[in-house]
Amino acid sequence: MSSLPVLVLNSGSSSIKFSIYEAGNGERRKLYEGAVDGIGTEQGKFWIKDAEGNKLVDRSPALPNRSVAFKMVADLLHSGDFHAPAAIGHRMVCAAPTLQDNLRVTPQMIDEMERFKNLAPLHTPIGAYIMREALQLFPGVPNFACSDSYFHRTLPEVVTHMPIPAEYSALGVRRVGFHGISYESIVYQLQPNVPERLIVAHLGNGASIAAIRNGRCLDTSMGLTPTGGIVSGTRTGDVDPGVLLFILRQIAENTASATEAADQLEAMANKKAGLLGVSELSNDMRDLRSAINIGNREARLAVDKFNWTIAKCIGSFFPELDGLDMLVFTGGIGENDIAVRAEICAGLGALGIVLDPAKNNIRGEAVISVENSPVTVRVIPPAEDLIIVNHVVDLLAAQVEPTPSE
Ligand code: ADP
Repeated sequence: MSSLPVLVLNSGSSSIKFSIYEAGNGERRKLYEGAVDGIGTEQGKFWIKDAEGNKLVDRSPALPNRSVAFKMVADLLHSGDFHAPAAIGHRMVCAAPTLQDNLRVTPQMIDEMERFKNLAPLHTPIGAYIMREALQLFPGVPNFACSDSYFHRTLPEVVTHMPIPAEYSALGVRRVGFHGISYESIVYQLQPNVPERLIVAHLGNGASIAAIRNGRCLDTSMGLTPTGGIVSGTRTGDVDPGVLLFILRQIAENTASATEAADQLEAMANKKAGLLGVSELSNDMRDLRSAINIGNREARLAVDKFNWTIAKCIGSFFPELDGLDMLVFTGGIGENDIAVRAEICAGLGALGIVLDPAKNNIRGEAVISVENSPVTVRVIPPAEDLIIVNHVVDLLAAQVEPTPSE
């Protein structure tokens, strides 16, 4: 395949992040990266940098909605000043049983995503919207969806199967797992020396952990939805199911319909819980650190709770992996919050995880364990866009055709 510009899109609730790679046989070269941020505000940010980090675009436009923001990106990429994409790759966060592979985007598969939007309400609706817009704004350009759960396809049945009646399993209720593109990118970056027994802690606004043996995923903390697992910025993580039932009954007393009650419970579990819920202050770790520094007790409890669920989860993966060779921290918190890494690892010394405080005093890529630590501890930023480009190149090479009705 000759080199083609590939656009990678990764959208959040108030931003659209993108990058453009030149990609061909074995060649991957990042040309630009950029973002529109502050969607829904009068003065957002729109920037593009080249591969050397030089700002080529730096504007503060009004961004009343996502449609305006995305059209701004598309218009600029069509202006002739940048490489117009020949293919587009999207991160797809969706638990639909038929969408666990990397695949060509079609209107029908977007419909299917929307059918399952409630399983990842912070991600799937936005992703589906951007895919639909991309088909319109870049006519004739093939779009591909890279499943954030594809990496977890190797999970054994004992891990994926939920202890519920078979009629619900038949509906597709099972452990799916997320952050798979990030995990795959860590394994990719460790090549050719991928340790046999690896745990990766992806600690961002959403947080999860994966146990990986010989590059294949063996277990992961998130379940059917990104709400489960360890504590996240605004999500509960795993809680006693009886707690959710108790809260649902409380909500139901003051709501008119079951759907309304379910909507309120969904908002509680996804948007109001986690670090934000416990601290009643913020889901942003930087705010919590500032609050802890001036003695805020709730912020301290929120971060302690976060660390506790992570340390427990890491420990729980030891028997499955039969020990551990390497622990990797990644994601915005994993890469940048020195104290979180130290606090988590402080309780894991008995498992051979021993940090070197001087080496840990760093942001970004590094080995942070002591020289003779039985487990090597590393910080590695994820390279999700690169993995999406890899999948787009593979799918183009396989000449994945759209369905006839596209
Ligand atoms: P997302 O899941 O939205 O991609 P990120 O991986 O960008 O999230 O991580 C966001 C989190 O990283 C936030 O909690 C933020 O506070 C935290 N973070 C970013 N920079 C720092 C920093 N310098 N110190 C501590 N935490 C940081």
